[in-house]
Amino acid sequence: MNPQVDVVVGLACNAKCGFCVQECTRKTVDQFSIEKISTALKFVHGRGVHRLVITGGEPTLDGYAKRTYYTLLVASEIGSWEFKAVYTNGTGLLEDVVRPCMMKAPMPRVGVLAEAGLTDVNLSRHHYSHKEAAVVFGIQIPTAEDIVRAAQMFGVNVRLNCNLMRGCVDTFEQMCTYLLWAKSLGVKDVYFRNLFRFAQSDLYDPREFNTRNVLQFTQNHSVDFESLLEKVYGSTDFVLTKQRLKKNEGHGTETGFLFQNALPVYFADLTIGKERPGAGTYWVVMPNGYLYDAFTSEQHRIDVPLTQAGTLPEGRS
Ligand code: SF4
Repeated sequence: MNPQVDVVVGLACNAKCGFCVQECTRKTVDQFSIEKISTALKFVHGRGVHRLVITGGEPTLDGYAKRTYYTLLVASEIGSWEFKAVYTNGTGLLEDVVRPCMMKAPMPRVGVLAEAGLTDVNLSRHHYSHKEAAVVFGIQIPTAEDIVRAAQMFGVNVRLNCNLMRGCVDTFEQMCTYLLWAKSLGVKDVYFRNLFRFAQSDLYDPREFNTRNVLQFTQNHSVDFESLLEKVYGSTDFVLTKQRLKKNEGHGTETGFLFQNALPVYFADLTIGKERPGAGTYWVVMPNGYLYDAFTSEQHRIDVPLTQAGTLPEGRS
């Protein structure tokens, strides 16, 4: 069973990434219920899911930052977590804000979130050049350097997420340049991801949700992931730390290395669409607090008994 739960605090995003998975999966109404989110989190936490990722949309936007804050607070009340991370393009992390419940001097939002229990920022940066990274998002973003510095000031780790894609980081040499840059920033680790693949199934038709031509984009920009991984295996700069392992109930894989004896780096790929209801492929809590074990169809919704957090309904394992 997947040990991680993703809480989607809102569906909107200021960026316009051509590969956005949110653009290619089923949506629910953007109503927010912290009570129902809390119930869903208690439910999965009681099943041994102790990794929390708050995501969107963009969870640091002004309209969503309070939702992120309250989600962190209720998660902290539930129990201990291996990490409580926010998955972000970084837009609102450095904005000066006052804590929602107190009138104190403003501080960068990442500090306020750290006070509410944030341990990690998973920062999407698909290029080491700030200019190129901004082009991928189609918006202005704070620099990774500024975000890492601020996060470290508040004791928050930073993981850099980079989609490998044609025209960005798409060769072994580009990956090494990216890793040297990441190493100089002092981030916790780097997560290189093959672009998501979308598979049609009897429960999911990606074309139904494909409002931004995401399928076309991923087809046009996919790299030869296997060849890149082969080069990594053959390089003395990389030491294998985690043999290629199946993840997400066999729909994805993850391989780990240490780069130049200093920086952990992971390579992952994932196919979306073939998940079976009840398999616990990935836990997703939508803004309205509904819990799913994949975000591709309504059949993946888990009925959370309000009074029985910690036990799955019959037939679900
Ligand atoms: S930043 Fe994330 S949520 Fe926003 S458009 Fe890009 S991939 Fe989608």
